[in-house]
Amino acid sequence: SSDPFDFAATVRAIPDYPKKGIVFRDITTLLGDARAFRRTIDELVQPWAGSKIDKVAGIEARGFIVGGAVAHQLSAGFVPIRKKGKLPYETVRVSYALEYGIDEIEMHVDAVEPGERVILVDDLIATGGTAEGAIKLLRGKGAIVEAACFIIDLPVLGGADKLRAMDVPVRTLISFD
Ligand code: 5GP
Repeated sequence: SSDPFDFAATVRAIPDYPKKGIVFRDITTLLGDARAFRRTIDELVQPWAGSKIDKVAGIEARGFIVGGAVAHQLSAGFVPIRKKGKLPYETVRVSYALEYGIDEIEMHVDAVEPGERVILVDDLIATGGTAEGAIKLLRGKGAIVEAACFIIDLPVLGGADKLRAMDVPVRTLISFD
């Protein structure tokens, strides 16, 4: 399975969604393609195969789909990071900037232990604001963020560079201009 695979060809572009001028990268076509989904998970985790990762943290909602599969592959636990008001137990919360305004994400207070090695997962990184918030939550509870993995990078928006500046290694499989 080291033959090249065209991951980008399995992602659908939706013009003017959710608003005019935005090209939304739709991963449901990748997820619905059994071979593409398996190859995506295999290649995302490849650098950590055989290393000890305690937990995979996934960001709502598409990060749950990818993160659950990654956690299974690494024999790690799974930690959901959610939009505010969704988690039932006591939480820690962080605000992050959106294009217009702010949003907040949360994690259960006992989701990670100090010193645990965690990989953060989401489907796509754009400005990196969401992932930066998630890293703050994890580090705030003493976790070691070993890496952040995304299927898709939009490098012109600078998110991956922002995370690397926070000393988090970043792995992505597809780049779109
Ligand atoms: P950021 O915080 O890096 O600016 O935005 C990343 C977040 O927005 C991720 O949670 C991602 O799921 C979502 N997102 C933004 N644009 C897209 C897109 O074109 N396609 C998909 N699938 N998700 C997007």
